[in-house]
Amino acid sequence: MQAEVIAIGDELTTGQRLDTNSQWLSAELGLLGIPVLFHTTVCDTLEAGVEAFRIAAARCELVVATGGLGPTADDLTRDVLAAVAGEPLELSAAALEAVESRFARRAVAMPESNRRQAMFPRGTRIIPNPNGTAPGIDLDVRRPDGGTSRIIALPGVPSEMREMWRGTVEPALAAMLPEAGVFVHRRIKCFGAGESAVEAMLPDLIHRGRDPLVGITAHEATITLRIVARGRDERECRAKIAPTERTILECLGPHVYGVEDDEVEDAAVRALVNAGQTLGTIEIGTEGRVAACLTQAEARRQAQQSSLLSGQVGTQAHDPLLAVYRGGMVLPARAIPGVEHESADSMKRLAERARADSGATLGLAVGAARPGPEGRSVVVIALSDGQTVEQIEHMLGGGPTLALSRAAKTAIDLVRRTLEPRIAAS
Ligand code: AMP
Ligand code: MG
Repeated sequence: MQAEVIAIGDELTTGQRLDTNSQWLSAELGLLGIPVLFHTTVCDTLEAGVEAFRIAAARCELVVATGGLGPTADDLTRDVLAAVAGEPLELSAAALEAVESRFARRAVAMPESNRRQAMFPRGTRIIPNPNGTAPGIDLDVRRPDGGTSRIIALPGVPSEMREMWRGTVEPALAAMLPEAGVFVHRRIKCFGAGESAVEAMLPDLIHRGRDPLVGITAHEATITLRIVARGRDERECRAKIAPTERTILECLGPHVYGVEDDEVEDAAVRALVNAGQTLGTIEIGTEGRVAACLTQAEARRQAQQSSLLSGQVGTQAHDPLLAVYRGGMVLPARAIPGVEHESADSMKRLAERARADSGATLGLAVGAARPGPEGRSVVVIALSDGQTVEQIEHMLGGGPTLALSRAAKTAIDLVRRTLEPRIAAS
């Protein structure tokens, strides 16, 4: 089965809004093992819509569309699909009641225009919309070659579309696939190497048709490798994933910091806990990103710990909820006279001060220079344990905001990278 994704809306074709729905849907379809051959973006007229769906249905067995299901006159997807299927629009009493009761709950009268949202081409399987008034349409249409294509139309509002996909469409499509089964995803998180560098370190894992499938995505210098296995049950999937995961860990070594929803700072906090260490920070010119990330990671760890500990009584030798991140100082650039951010010596002194001031066992100092030419900036990062000072210099690219966020993550990751070998050796 091959798919086409259609995004509908004047706001898309006039460039006022970026079509993110097609990206999201295509990634989801890919994970189901359904290749997407075409993306079409079409304006809100009836003629253009009909043409887009005719072409799509003729060349793909599955067409997934978003947009144009609203109550207003420019929302024509239901009319377009009625024309493509050659079926009349019919009122669904159940759908009308659902729309009416949504309005009744909010104690407002339903505008007459919303009746349209209860109209569907004959033969539609209605896709419920728990978060909005526009239900989706799931409809088979005849193809010129005598076969049928399945058209799924969802609202354009991304949150509604996603919820309907998860709740109704994804299970329906999974059931349609030749060998019904389950999918299991595993995400491996890496930091410290670019997307193409990571890909080059891996032996030919990332290609279409591989089982399990491996995909790579980058977000703010964090690289996610996503392994997707399909099998009869979860155990079979996990067994397929394990050797691929091992290969990735072996090839990427210390670049891998965690799995699933882990952020770099979660891994750093975990390393501090495992190493029995505490951390204080001083950051200059990073707009508090280091402290923000680490306090958020502490909050996540504490929430997780307290749910693990709930119900347990007794006195512990040390309080497992006590923060290992002891806080820090956030300074704007040029706040300390005589301290040059680019200067390694200054940063070493500040790392020691971060440690001493916070009463922690480790001190981290980060001095992000202001963005320089070509948007690149140098960050000097120093980590002191009272005896030795680990220090790195990093050239950062990307726009100013991204550069600062990368600077903070690079500093936080130095804590993890320094501690992990010590934990392993102990
Ligand atoms: P519609 O279902 O066409 O009424 O769309 C409702 C809203 O969803 C639009 O005003 C957009 O803000 C948003 N939207 C529609 N299509 C897309 C898309 N392809 N990607 C992202 N947002 C969209
Ligand atoms: Mg629209």
